[in-house]
Amino acid sequence: EERIISAHYMGEDGSFESIRPRYLNEYIGQKQVKENLRVFIEAAKMRQEPLDHVLLYGPPGLGKTTLSNIIANELGVNLRITSGPAIERPGDLAALLTNLQQSDVLFIDEIHRLNRSVEEVLYPAMEDYALDIVIGKGPSARSVRLELPPFTLIGATTRAGLLSSPLRDRFGVISHLDYYSVEDLCRIVVRAADILQVKIQPNAAVEIATRSRGTPRVANRLLKRVRDFAQVRGDGVITEEIAENALEQIQVDPLGLDHIDHKLLLAIMDKFNGGPVGLDTIAATIGEESDTIDDVYEPYLLQIGFLQRTPRGRVVTARAYSHFGRTPNHESGD
Ligand code: ADP
Repeated sequence: EERIISAHYMGEDGSFESIRPRYLNEYIGQKQVKENLRVFIEAAKMRQEPLDHVLLYGPPGLGKTTLSNIIANELGVNLRITSGPAIERPGDLAALLTNLQQSDVLFIDEIHRLNRSVEEVLYPAMEDYALDIVIGKGPSARSVRLELPPFTLIGATTRAGLLSSPLRDRFGVISHLDYYSVEDLCRIVVRAADILQVKIQPNAAVEIATRSRGTPRVANRLLKRVRDFAQVRGDGVITEEIAENALEQIQVDPLGLDHIDHKLLLAIMDKFNGGPVGLDTIAATIGEESDTIDDVYEPYLLQIGFLQRTPRGRVVTARAYSHFGRTPNHESGD
């Protein structure tokens, strides 16, 4: 099921290419990451060397692909984009690497999903800019070392802990991207509206920002939907009222929760007295995959303090109860 508040890339996001920031000074928020990268990029340029390999980790939709684009632009080099699952065999990676030019950037999204044999090709490539190729089979097989142009690898993953330690150790720069503040999301919405040439009232931008789950990709998507309502129901200007009505209409609540979040939280409150309840039990109750709940639904609910993970299972917090105008009922048990 496609959810408007999903942080994962969906086909229609492609039409938003024009608003993707291209240089560091257009990239909003993530101050620490940005300031560090600015120094490392500058230093690499001064030395005329490739930038150290960079690992970016954090939830989807926070700007990892955007940042790798920016890094390549700032360095004035080419960017090649691929992903862990797309590189099936060592030969696929070898083909990518041998096509790079001096100081180019290779971006591997979902780098934690590289298979073992591919990962092993990556080690000498990252460390020595070399490719070890085995020629022939059986007793006459021998290994030949090919030199690669010095390059920068940027890896992206949702959690740094998902990487094997030999791979993690080969990154010189490890940067964590965090959920964005409402202020930063507001600036992102205003900037995007400006590029799309749609007028938006400041309060309407705040309204969209607060429902965007800390995630620029969601903010852009909500802006796009709200713009439709402004065009059809209004005179094209996104007012606070239009934004509120549109977001209610598409069932994104004031905190950015949708009907699946509601279903999940209500199931734990109603059927398990607020928990603790195991992930698999929740999954069976609401008819979703455990993995999907774990990766997609839960991170934001944990982030806003609506859900807690305990050794005995998930627990809905008092804050979540009050969001639904309820009070926790703990008489019956612990
Ligand atoms: P990720 O690779 O982490 O899943 P993306 O880099 O594809 O996320 O970002 C999703 C969208 O959000 C991009 O199209 C971009 O327009 C927007 N975006 C991300 N980060 C920023 C930012 N810091 N400032 C402005 N827009 C951003």
